[in-house]
Amino acid sequence: EREDMERRKYTTEEEKDELIPNLRGFSRQEYLKKREEQKLVELRQELEDEENLFANQKLTAKEERVLEEKRKKLKYAEARKKLVDDLDNRDEYRMPSAYDQEGNVQQDQRYKVLTERYRDTDEGDEGTPWQEQANWETEQIKKASMKTGAKDSQAKAKDYEFVFEDQIDFITDQAMAGTLEVDDEEDPRERERKARAAEKQSKQEKLQADRKLLPMYPFREPLLEAIAEHQVLIIVGETGSGKTTQIPQYLHEAGYSKAGKIGCTQPRRVAAMSVAARVAEEVDVKLGQEVGYSIRFEDCTSDKTILKYMTDGMLLREFLGEPDLASYSVMMVDEAHERTLHTDVLFGLVKDIARFRPDIKLLISSATLDAEKFSDYFDHAPIFRIPGRRYPVDIMYTKAPEANYLHAAVVTALQVHVTQPAGDVLIFLTGQEEIEAAEELLKQRTKGLGSRIGELMIAPIYANLPSDLQSKIFEVTPPGARKIVLATNIAETSLTIDGIKYVIDPGFVKQNSYNPRSGMESLVVTPVSQASANQRAGRAGRTSPGKCFRLYTAWSYQNELDENTVPEIQRTNLGNVVLMLKSLGINDLMGFDFMDPPPTETLLRALEQLYALGALNDRGELTKLGRRMAEFPLDPMLAKMIINSETYGCSEEVATVAAMVSTGNSIFYRPKDKAVHADNAHNNFHRGSPGDHIALMNVFNGWADTNFSTQWCYENFVQMRSMKRARDIRDQVLGLMERVEVAVISDRSNEENIKKAIASGFFYHTAKLAKSGADYRTVKNPQTVHVHPQSGLIEVRPKWVIYHELVQTSKEFMRTISEIKPSWLTEIAPHYYSKRE
Ligand code: ADP
Ligand code: MG
Repeated sequence: EREDMERRKYTTEEEKDELIPNLRGFSRQEYLKKREEQKLVELRQELEDEENLFANQKLTAKEERVLEEKRKKLKYAEARKKLVDDLDNRDEYRMPSAYDQEGNVQQDQRYKVLTERYRDTDEGDEGTPWQEQANWETEQIKKASMKTGAKDSQAKAKDYEFVFEDQIDFITDQAMAGTLEVDDEEDPRERERKARAAEKQSKQEKLQADRKLLPMYPFREPLLEAIAEHQVLIIVGETGSGKTTQIPQYLHEAGYSKAGKIGCTQPRRVAAMSVAARVAEEVDVKLGQEVGYSIRFEDCTSDKTILKYMTDGMLLREFLGEPDLASYSVMMVDEAHERTLHTDVLFGLVKDIARFRPDIKLLISSATLDAEKFSDYFDHAPIFRIPGRRYPVDIMYTKAPEANYLHAAVVTALQVHVTQPAGDVLIFLTGQEEIEAAEELLKQRTKGLGSRIGELMIAPIYANLPSDLQSKIFEVTPPGARKIVLATNIAETSLTIDGIKYVIDPGFVKQNSYNPRSGMESLVVTPVSQASANQRAGRAGRTSPGKCFRLYTAWSYQNELDENTVPEIQRTNLGNVVLMLKSLGINDLMGFDFMDPPPTETLLRALEQLYALGALNDRGELTKLGRRMAEFPLDPMLAKMIINSETYGCSEEVATVAAMVSTGNSIFYRPKDKAVHADNAHNNFHRGSPGDHIALMNVFNGWADTNFSTQWCYENFVQMRSMKRARDIRDQVLGLMERVEVAVISDRSNEENIKKAIASGFFYHTAKLAKSGADYRTVKNPQTVHVHPQSGLIEVRPKWVIYHELVQTSKEFMRTISEIKPSWLTEIAPHYYSKRE
């Protein structure tokens, strides 16, 4: 500890005293005491000096007033000091030593409100503000507890018993301790206060008032001081404390934006967009001006942008053009605990930059408490802990495992709706398809119940949801209604939705999985880790005590869930990242400073694949082709396919295919009541040579030929929004092609050439129909795979296919497939297929 302090070179003892408590998690109270004491000494001194100065003079009215002001200030400072000192002794304000052994903060809400209050009343009004405050609060608590009566809701539950038959039995197993002690029926004072404020204030005023209610706010000054002092700072604070939205604003307000942009990375696209939108609102500027975001295929920034939110992947790309991040004065790597592949790679790059750019500030922020690891990695950077505030959450488990978690989740949500007091519901699902299915099911189940149950607002949120629909999750639930948010893992820590009181956790997540031995990469629905389950449960206790319904048994939580999620870098294909690092001139990948190194085998695989694609030469150096490939923010296989397409005379078509496969899988839709029509329309895209790639191209061309008509989308059961996204991506791909000098040539008619061009990038992903005819075997490290039910080739079953990706649900499915001829493989990739086959 002592060594640590010395290394950090405090200039004065006082500074050390000021900072250390906050950095290492000492009691906040001690810190406050010191601070108040110091202020008092300063004020006394100041007043004394002036009184001496004016001692024998007659004062003007103005001088008299100034002096009087100062005396008043001193009086308040004395009272404040007394208040802070008294905190130990007064029962009602007793605060346990702020931090327990795990670093959890046991801070009393009231204490926070008080500290805030005396901040605001610095200029002082009459009386003792804190006393008023305490009285007011007591009154609010009384009011709030009267409003939500438990008896009331139980009576209601009886009324509704007949509505749903298939109820699920839960047992309470444990309660997750909150950091706030409140009894169950208590409504949050905070909300009450917000509601009151809302009546009086304009929207902007309310936004500003809300900012001050965030747990982050009382730590604004100490945080800024710590940032001024240290180049690298680890920031830890519970989800919803205001790290993402507030810290960049604080930095801007403190003047950091004069020296350069303030950047903040997010692992998820939706989070980057949504948070930027919120901050733009708070700063009161148009999104894309001073506050903007940058995500793959969408740059919503301008020359004016000073607060820039971006995905971690985009920052990685920015390194290609600006290897020292010269245009930034601060970089905040947010949601570090998520340990996404890109975040992990960024760690190594920003750590390096910090060494030769002493002027850049680096913030690593995380929602989990185990920040020591980050600190160790960043040369023992100090840790700034923001005390959390969380209400207790009751955890309920099912008595027996649930066969169908989607169904169980919907039933549980409805059960909550009819039996539990007001409060919104958050359901964690694994992806868009599940979310859509759940929405459908919820609607079905409640159809015809009319006013027998309260109004339900269903709000989905997932990566591909268009931005105009994303804001629905933040809409305030009207009285009497209940919001059900259907979310992917994005709601675990990246987005905070206020008002959630019930969490339904089926216990699954869709994750990358990679087997370096076979080179097989797929998205797999896997059980979450215990850490993840606990984060999810925590979402129920943000604004009041809550409940979390786990759709699995207590036994399986204990025995079947891993403790922590494996960092993505250890379970994914590294082709893309290796190509990027190579283009940044980082040749020695084994020696790269990874926080948790990827398996050597995975690195070797990536090198080998890049070599097979021609991006690296046999000494592992980047080739000219590799350099061009790195320009595309796409998988190396897609990049290769695009660059090669020129030689097949169909680069425009291939750009279309690349754009269509990059939109996510939401091009087609199939309403239940018009399923036959939809199927017919979709089958039409499969005329000509069989293959999903060509079909996707036909969809785009069909739309383009009608001048991007809405009507056309409607008639063909195609999602207009996804198509617009495809058009944007395509435009960008065409732009990048120009940049790396790939001629744009069009020949729609030669479908064989288009498929050859695709195969020239995807020869890795080849499968052959098994002898039985029932399934497929991958060609290079034989594995059984199946045609995805949504593929147009589900019945055709050609002998040889290439596939875009593998998805594992009940089985390992190939998604987006085209028929090829085996002879193409030796023609396209002789080094890969003839030598070793
Ligand atoms: P943290 O990063 O510490 O998890 P955030 O800064 O994301 O916290 O969130 C702080 C608060 O801002 C939350 O209470 C949330 O309600 C609010 N907030 C964040 N994004 C939005 C948004 N897009 N719309 C409305 N409120 C938002
Ligand atoms: Mg955040």
